[in-house]
Amino acid sequence: MSRAFVLGILIAVGGLTAAAYQQPQQGPMVVEVDKIKDNLWVLKGGGGNTAVFLTGSGVVVVDAKNPGWGKPILDKIKELTPKPITTLINTHTHGDHVSGNVEFPATVEVITQENTKANMEKMDIFKQNSNRGMAKKTFKDKMSIGRGADEIDLYYFGPGHTNGDAIVVFPALRTAHLGDLFAGKGLPLVDSANGGSVLHYAETLNKVHGGVKNVDTIINGHMPTTTTWADLKTFAEFNQDFLTWAQGALKSGKPAEDAAKEWKVPEKYAGYSSTVAPLFGGLPGRLQRLQEEMKK
Ligand SMILES: [Zn+2]
Repeated sequence: MSRAFVLGILIAVGGLTAAAYQQPQQGPMVVEVDKIKDNLWVLKGGGGNTAVFLTGSGVVVVDAKNPGWGKPILDKIKELTPKPITTLINTHTHGDHVSGNVEFPATVEVITQENTKANMEKMDIFKQNSNRGMAKKTFKDKMSIGRGADEIDLYYFGPGHTNGDAIVVFPALRTAHLGDLFAGKGLPLVDSANGGSVLHYAETLNKVHGGVKNVDTIINGHMPTTTTWADLKTFAEFNQDFLTWAQGALKSGKPAEDAAKEWKVPEKYAGYSSTVAPLFGGLPGRLQRLQEEMKK
């Protein structure tokens, strides 16, 4: 489990690097398919996990991976269904979740939380592609699209990984895509440049857990398998415990670099990765961000 999570993080880091430098893809682009429900699949590889939801009127896709992975996603969906893609939802702004957007047909409606649209508008990949794949429809706190078996509920509960992390719920399937707000079992990345918050992360997770009902299965941003609603509760507690530890360490006046060396995953969090991804300054960067947030 922890090895898988580290791999996921490496993919995430690679994704952001690729987005930043537009590096060409090395090797073959293999999209792996997991069938989650009769009309819901997860496409793995090439960045964040992509969800494919088949409705009566067409296909809804959640997240579009790294640059160059739009076409492999489209090709794989053609193997699953002849129905057209109508909608693309992005969970948040990162390059390993939105870059493939520019390869989708221009007829596809792109939906994001409103802050994510603002973040995407700053990204080179959209500037270089005349804004193709840019979000057209946005929501602030909640929006529903479709009805009955086709319904999708979109929620935003506050800052965490970024300031625009959408929770995408398929109520009829009791399943939700949580993007990188719950990327895997370990300390989450916090992107402060895109409004992420170390201080409010656990609180936001608790709001998700308390505010969304009737979900059993979670598609995570970078996990090779699904997790459960109970896993989300544990992940929220893990983040709360981290915050309590971090605030204590900083209040004692310790420099972030020194405090970071003392962090350990509490034993009760079995299967949680002890590796902290170096992105966004690693653990010291996270503690510095927390220090800044605590001063506000
Ligand atoms: Zn991300």
